[in-house]
Amino acid sequence: MTETLDITITKVAKSRLAETDFNNLPFGRTFSDHMFVADYADGEWKNFQIVPYGEIGLSPAISALHYGQSFFEGLKAYKHVDGKVSVFRPYMNAARFNKSAERLCMPELPEDIFVQSIAALVDLDKDWIPAKPNHSLYIRPFMFAIDPYLGVAPSKTYKYMVICGPTGPYFSKPLRVKIETHYSRAVEGGFGYAKAAGNYGGAMLPLKKAVEEGYDQLIWTDGKEHAYMEELGAANVMFLLDGKLITPSTRDTILKGVTRDTVLTLAREWGYTVEERRVSIAEVLEGAKNGKLTDAFGAGTAATIAPIGEIEHGGNLYTLPDPSQREFSKKVLKTLDEIRYGVTADPYGWNYMV
Ligand SMILES: *Cc1c(COP(=O)(O)O)cnc(C)c1O
Repeated sequence: MTETLDITITKVAKSRLAETDFNNLPFGRTFSDHMFVADYADGEWKNFQIVPYGEIGLSPAISALHYGQSFFEGLKAYKHVDGKVSVFRPYMNAARFNKSAERLCMPELPEDIFVQSIAALVDLDKDWIPAKPNHSLYIRPFMFAIDPYLGVAPSKTYKYMVICGPTGPYFSKPLRVKIETHYSRAVEGGFGYAKAAGNYGGAMLPLKKAVEEGYDQLIWTDGKEHAYMEELGAANVMFLLDGKLITPSTRDTILKGVTRDTVLTLAREWGYTVEERRVSIAEVLEGAKNGKLTDAFGAGTAATIAPIGEIEHGGNLYTLPDPSQREFSKKVLKTLDEIRYGVTADPYGWNYMV
């Protein structure tokens, strides 16, 4: 898009900043002063607005609620050491936003509208970005169907919105994970690769059970045989096995993470052999037994790099090397932080400056 987006801005009468406790920021509970809203009707996006964060009135018949025409994205803005503000790789999220939209029979949102809506909101609420290590502004763009119609058919009207809020570290300790061999998150031909709301609702019961059994997270496996690794909860999963970085190749069942791409890019740059392929449970557990599995972690925007401390499978618990001794994931996290907080150069152009 050559022109900037024409956004009508209505500011809050009084900011909630002063009453917000920045020393206590559990994920997803604190929201900034404003939000972005746009409407889709008659085949086009219109009414671009930034308004005070708050409730929205909707018909109880909207198809998002009944048939799940609803999906989201997740990305972060960072405050640099020199006070500048950037959003990390937003065009990657913009492209994935449209992949999700396509799969759910929802309208495409031009990538520039996606990025400019975020940049405008982040700029207005930039005082909400904590200037602290491991802290950022989590940004949640989403789209949902608003036709007040109970027929099972694609809606003709939609809302696109962006909300955001300050956040600190997501997982604070190494994860104890269970390899899930009963439930499935996604199947071939399904929509696991989309950030569709329904994928996360369906994942809640299996996770709840895993938590009751004493685990922090679960590793999803393929829906057919439960023999291959897919994802770690809502993050991509990676293993350093025999010195090589190994991760499941993306397909219908796997969300193609921006963090995943970022980590693989850095690993290749550093000369690691990177393998994107099917990763069997058997080879990972064998590596855990014989010591060739030296690192294992989840990679995602919310979780960043989340080390796996222990893995359970078939009644056996495998303990992995002490996360504080892991060369690879520590180096990735350090490098990522240095780029995102503007401590070092950004040779890949990953920071979108606001
Ligand atoms: C969002 C998400 C990821 C991570 O993607 P990022 O772009 O790195 O945040 C991985 N898996 C699932 C299922 C997700 O929803």
